[in-house]
Amino acid sequence: MADTCKYIFVTGGVTSSLGKGIISASLAKLLQARGYSITIQKFDPYINVDPGTLNPYEHGECYVTEDGAETDLDLGHYERFLNSPTSQANNVTTGRIYSNVIDKERRGDYLGKTVQVVPHITNEIKRRVKLLGKTGNFDFVITEIGGTVGDIESLPYIEAVRQLRWELENRAMVIHLTLIPYLRAAGELKTKPTQHSVKELLSSGIQPDVLVCRTEHTLTDDIRRKLALFCNMKIDSVIESIDADTIYDVPILMQKEGLDNVVLRRFELPTNNNPDLKKWKAFLHNLKNPEKEIELCLVGKYVELPDSYKSILEALTHASSDQKTKVNINLIHSENITSKNIDALLKNANAVLVAPGFGERGIEGKIEAVKYAREKKIPFLGICLGMQCAVIEFARNVLGLEDAHSAEFKSSSAHPVIDLMEEQKNISDKGGTMRLGAYECELQNNSPVSKVYGSNTIVERHRHRFEFNNAYLDDFNKGGMTTPGRNPDSELVEIIEIENHPWFIGVQFHPEYKSTVAAPHPLFVNFVAAAANHKKATSK
Ligand code: GLN
Repeated sequence: MADTCKYIFVTGGVTSSLGKGIISASLAKLLQARGYSITIQKFDPYINVDPGTLNPYEHGECYVTEDGAETDLDLGHYERFLNSPTSQANNVTTGRIYSNVIDKERRGDYLGKTVQVVPHITNEIKRRVKLLGKTGNFDFVITEIGGTVGDIESLPYIEAVRQLRWELENRAMVIHLTLIPYLRAAGELKTKPTQHSVKELLSSGIQPDVLVCRTEHTLTDDIRRKLALFCNMKIDSVIESIDADTIYDVPILMQKEGLDNVVLRRFELPTNNNPDLKKWKAFLHNLKNPEKEIELCLVGKYVELPDSYKSILEALTHASSDQKTKVNINLIHSENITSKNIDALLKNANAVLVAPGFGERGIEGKIEAVKYAREKKIPFLGICLGMQCAVIEFARNVLGLEDAHSAEFKSSSAHPVIDLMEEQKNISDKGGTMRLGAYECELQNNSPVSKVYGSNTIVERHRHRFEFNNAYLDDFNKGGMTTPGRNPDSELVEIIEIENHPWFIGVQFHPEYKSTVAAPHPLFVNFVAAAANHKKATSK
């Protein structure tokens, strides 16, 4: 099929963390709201084959797609904004590119040739850029180039973009996202760093078509003119991206600045129909006009870097809008929790969420938090490791199995109530080897959780090596912990609940990955509703 797809490249200048992902997702949203089909992909210039082996402190959360790819957290934004799934093809790293080229070299595909960065690495980058476009499924593909222009690591990507712009002619454009710093002492916005970063791009042979300028203050006409003059572009191609209250404001702000119009004009497409943002605006309206307020404690060990819990925080935002309930999130470091201070830490909580994680640090604090939520009948949601902690806590304190633990933390435990999955036992490689991606789960008829979902079969995404140990299934069920969600093929327990508790659910999967603006996840929606009920019932 002839490739008629249009390619939009998004590069970054001056500094990292400007929010290329949000700008890309916002532009995509505006184009989607005009009826175009669109996808976004991210190219990351590091040598890890995927971010699955990275500590969350490095790059925040690892986002898992339906097909089980461990990807950059920006893919979460793409899905949340567009409400359409991404896949392995949407996230490519330098490691993956090199690994592919080296595999080909070993197979003899380049026989006789010296394999080089240009053209072999750049060709592989170009092939991957066009992979999604060539499916014929998309009118536009936005490619976000990670890192900052001028970085050594980014050079092959910038060179590939230069070549593609040339080859694709009027089917490609470049948006450069940059920072306009404000110097308080001088009381001025400064354009020089942007001028330099555009010069850097120009020295690589790329003239950006649009400049998106992150700023804390409104860009005056003078500043816009100056930027246009020095960066060789029309003034309407200089787009202001002012700090917003929420990332979900950004599509609206970009529309006001005319980013979608500039892009459409660049591709000679009509601009007379307006994007349909009714639902998006209703979402924002509800988010900003809550009628209730709850206190939620999120217990985790990476709380210094909230990006580690990005999808959970966003899923709570979606639920907050759906329920018109302001969710005040208190991030609590599990390492700091003891049986002595737990009451002081959680006494105001209307909901307790114990987060996913790997490794033993902070485990006992998480178990303490589960115990508190169980005993005080506070709505509880345990995700992945959070569910495993709920199982351990129940075994120790209700079933009386004192030594109960997860084999991840104590292989000699007399009661490994959480154990390594059978298929994991012979795996030694760490990268891409967990139980990953979407699996079906069957829910017990009429169980509370089946009512939450409104269905008896669900599909959720996973990322773990350990599991509920089915040797203890009867003990738990008899003791009052039910297991209403099971995998139909493997019989693995995917969900636990506690009887005699208003809302206590643990899930072995990650529901947060599937929550979007258009479809807030039912578990989070219901959890927030339960928290509001808890508040009502406990406040006089
Ligand atoms: N460490 C646990 C496991 O591997 C939980 C993983 C998680 O929370 N994502 O099973």
